[in-house]
Amino acid sequence: MEACPVAAAEDWVARTAGQVRAEGERRHPGQTPTCASGISPSGPVHLGNLRELMTPHFVADEVRKQGAPCRHILSWDDYDRYRRVPAGFDPSLAEYIGRPLTAVPDPCGEHLNWAEHFKEPLRASLAALGVLVTEISQTEMYTSGAYTEQIILAMRRRADIDAVLGRYRTRRPIQTEAEDGDDEPRDARGEYYPFKPYCATCGKDDTTVTGFDDATTEITYTCGCGAQHGPTPIAEVAGKLVWKVDWPMRWAYERVTFEPAGVDHSSPGSSFTVGGELVKEIFGGEMPLHFGYAFVGTAGGSSKMSSSAGGAPTPADALEILEPQLVRWLYARRRPEQSFTIAFNAEVGRTYDEWDRLTATIADGTAAPASVAAYGRAAGTAEGLLPATPRPLQFRTLASVADITAGDEAQILRILRDATVPEPIATLDEVRPRLDRAQAWVAGYMDPADRTVVRREPDLDRLGSLTDPDRDALKILNERMGDDWSLPGLTRLVYGIPKLQLGLDIDAPPTPEVKAAQRLWFILLYELLVGRDTGPRLPTLLLALGQDRIRYLLASG
Ligand SMILES: [Zn+2]
Ligand SMILES: [Zn+2]
Repeated sequence: MEACPVAAAEDWVARTAGQVRAEGERRHPGQTPTCASGISPSGPVHLGNLRELMTPHFVADEVRKQGAPCRHILSWDDYDRYRRVPAGFDPSLAEYIGRPLTAVPDPCGEHLNWAEHFKEPLRASLAALGVLVTEISQTEMYTSGAYTEQIILAMRRRADIDAVLGRYRTRRPIQTEAEDGDDEPRDARGEYYPFKPYCATCGKDDTTVTGFDDATTEITYTCGCGAQHGPTPIAEVAGKLVWKVDWPMRWAYERVTFEPAGVDHSSPGSSFTVGGELVKEIFGGEMPLHFGYAFVGTAGGSSKMSSSAGGAPTPADALEILEPQLVRWLYARRRPEQSFTIAFNAEVGRTYDEWDRLTATIADGTAAPASVAAYGRAAGTAEGLLPATPRPLQFRTLASVADITAGDEAQILRILRDATVPEPIATLDEVRPRLDRAQAWVAGYMDPADRTVVRREPDLDRLGSLTDPDRDALKILNERMGDDWSLPGLTRLVYGIPKLQLGLDIDAPPTPEVKAAQRLWFILLYELLVGRDTGPRLPTLLLALGQDRIRYLLASG
């Protein structure tokens, strides 16, 4: 295993990892501490949900980097009821509303059920990101009887639970999807039961508990389908604790040491606050260490997204255009309470540039300690470094080349060889996977208005209206571009021609006058080559076109 840069700074990750180790040891001496994430596979898992996983991941990974064990559980809320058919799916699936997510058919036919259909892409993304989790299916836990003791305890203590909930009932909590309306099931006499059966007749949770015998643990319930069941030992009845009781029960059961939650969960009366009381009073556990994390937004999109995930990007979409290290870095460099935006638009080039600059400062030892820490968390995990692109060329260059060549690999290789003198690349594998990301970005996310369409024929009108200095500049380009046909060579020439025309040395520092002349010169070249006044970086564009094509398009006849 290669060494990761050491986390020098005491950032939020290091601080929380220290707390997790100390608190884990205090609560359960000698046992592995647990960081927890919870995800509902009720529909596409959006990129916005990734912070729920990355936040505990960094902490658990930091503990492991320190040489101590740490468990990161991913609790799949797949025994929750199916609430609605998400946009874009067969509306006839509405007949399954009210059943557990694992009892709804898979929409594509390749997975075991509805929940698995949405788990699989997230699993693949987590693997690519180096996020190591222990998955726990709540369907498996509930149906195997793992929680029977806790369910009986909650039913016997239902009055106490009701009283705790009552302390918050007058406040108006922000309701999350899991909380809407199912947290206070009561029978006709108003008695509260924290357990909701899935009907043995119809499989749905349109059920009302009508009695529970504390001594025998037998439960009776009715269902909207007309069925009446029981008395039956609750151990034999399918169903689950309501969300506000379920969550603290699992904190105690899994001995969760640390579990962050979205900022909306920490409001008064939220399931997190109520859970903190229930875990202590009912389940004999303690509330996990926690803090709220802020929203992660996205900028730019693709028509592809609207079909795959209701218009919102998924982690897989982000990984299609960003190397895993960059995705990790975007999360690692921000404190959890800071919101931030992941760019899918042209800003993605800036994200890569920032990362490349950071990598350079790490290499030459000039990075600030906080940056070194964030870099270390991004570049690898306790298991080792993530695979990286051997020759990480500038993303914008790769995107331009992908754009200009329309993905032709032979052309891409030719251009990138010219672009990498004096040590030209031998194969495209040296620039992968970054090249693949750039190609995916051009294909799926680049604004069509920014696409480069090289002229097929010279623009005779424009060529006919050239000034003498224009003609002179084109002549210099024509005569000298072959002297050093490389990215640095062409950069020097293209930027240098206006200097030569002003009587300066080709390597003279730019003056305001030079910059003004360069702007007009670049516009002229863009107009003649691609028919617009802007485009990819000119040296890249020239390399891509090749000398014959350039001479043909710039020849004034
Ligand atoms: Zn499927
Ligand atoms: Zn029923």
